[in-house]
This record gives sequence, C-alpha cells and structure tokens, in this order.
Amino acid sequence: MLEVEGLTARYGSIAALRNASLNVGSGEVVGLIGPNGAGKTTLLSAIAGLIEPAEGRVTFERDDITGHTPEKLLRSGVALVPEHRRIFADLTVEENLKIGGVTVAPAKRAELLDEMAERFEVLSEKWDVPAGFLSGGEAQQLAIARALMSAPRLLMMDEPSLGLAPVLVDLVFELIDTLRDQGRALLVVEQNAARMLEVSDRAYVLRSGEIVATGTGAELSRRDDLFDTFVGHDAGNGTPRHAQDGPR
Ligand code: ATP
Repeated sequence: MLEVEGLTARYGSIAALRNASLNVGSGEVVGLIGPNGAGKTTLLSAIAGLIEPAEGRVTFERDDITGHTPEKLLRSGVALVPEHRRIFADLTVEENLKIGGVTVAPAKRAELLDEMAERFEVLSEKWDVPAGFLSGGEAQQLAIARALMSAPRLLMMDEPSLGLAPVLVDLVFELIDTLRDQGRALLVVEQNAARMLEVSDRAYVLRSGEIVATGTGAELSRRDDLFDTFVGHDAGNGTPRHAQDGPR
C-alpha cells in the first residue's frame, strides 16, 4: 500500500534522515520507534509532504506521491495527525472537523461528522466549544477525528500519546486497535515503544536518521542491541518490557 524507498531528508546541510525504506501493507499497523532526534518526525513529514525529500521515492497504492502537498495526499487517501496536534484553537470542535473533511464531498462530510460525534463522545459534548478550551486528551481525540474526516485509507500519527495522562494513553492505544479492526492501515510514531509494539503488526527502529531494525514486536523486544530503545518508556506499570520478559 505505502512504499518508501531510499528516502533522505535534509535540514540545510544536515541529513536528518538517510536512505530510509519501509512499507505498510493494507490493514497493517506499523510502528516507528526510536530515541529522541532519531528522525521519526522527519520521516513522517517527508512522506506527508510537509518537507521535501532530497532523495528517494514514496508510492501509495502504486501512485508516485513523492513531494505531493498535504492536500493532494489527503485526496489520495493519506492523512497525518501531526506532532503537537496542530488543531485550530479559535475554531470550534465542529469547525475543526469540517476543515478535516474539505477534500470529501458534502454528503460524505456530513456522514463522517455524524460518525465522529458518535465515536468521540467527549467531542460531541463540546461540539460548539473553541478547540483551545479542550484538555490535552480531548485535543488529541479532535486531532485524530479531524484526520479521519478525510476518510483516509492510511493514517499516520506522530506521537499520539505524548503528554497524556495514563488513562488517556490507554484510550489512544484502544483507538489504534479499533482503527485496525476497521481495516485501516496505520503508521504510528510513538515514544512509548513497548506499548506501541504490543499493538503493531510490525515496527521499524530509527536511530540517528537511519532505519536500523525491523520486525514484529516479539522479534524487536528480544533484541538486546535495541534495549535502549525501550528503556524509559514503560508498558503502563513502570516496568520496561525487557524486565517483564525475564531472562533470555
Ligand atoms: P523527537 O522524538 O524528539 O521528536 P524524532 O525522532 O522525531 O525526535 P526529528 O524531529 O525528526 O526526530 O529530528 C531529527 C533531527 O533533525 C534532530 O537532530 C533534530 O534536531 C533535527 N531537526 C528536526 N527538525 C529540524 C528543523 N526544522 N531544522 C533543523 N533541524 C531539525
């Protein structure tokens, strides 16, 4: 479904991402994990058309989408929930959602609005409230719902659980599960690596701008050389995944 081949992205003379290749199959949940500054956001931004890749190719459902604008990507079926949510604080919940649906036909947009109101109860209760008044958890749900308003076949999310209280982190991971059940493909950057591996079909590990490993959660969490990727991000009970797994 999504194929990324040899993607390199630079900020000035610094290559923040080097020769990255990955793929996401239809209905697959793929995690992108790695330490701070590894290039995860850069990789998503290059796929999503927010920054221009210096080299490489991105194809979606066999169409070359390299360097396409975010709007063109939305029309192709690819949406991004950006880091820090980036919702419009002065606009109401409903207005934010309608903006998310600009690329779909009006009848479909109305249908999707109803669907979002039903799925995100907390948003339906604050439909006419400016988004700037939402709590962090509500704002994250709005950011995800806004992306879903374009009816994407591939949804990319950048750090969806960042800064949320544990109960809301649970909610984000439940939502990832639900979206997978709907048959949607997901590519998710997560600092909570252990938790992400639990919900992923596969994951890629980025380090210093390069993809250094790929595999299923079980395969990756067994790799001693990746231990530092998991330390510091507990699985919800304060214990790194390795410690739970016991000696190998
Ligand atoms: P984090 O989890 O901290 O967001 P990340 O894995 O998403 O990390 P990126 O944000 O992609 O990493 O950053 C990769 C590298 O590129 C880092 O060294 C970062 O300092 C640098 N970088 C990111 N954005 C810019 C920018 N706009 N200008 C210059 N350098 C940047």
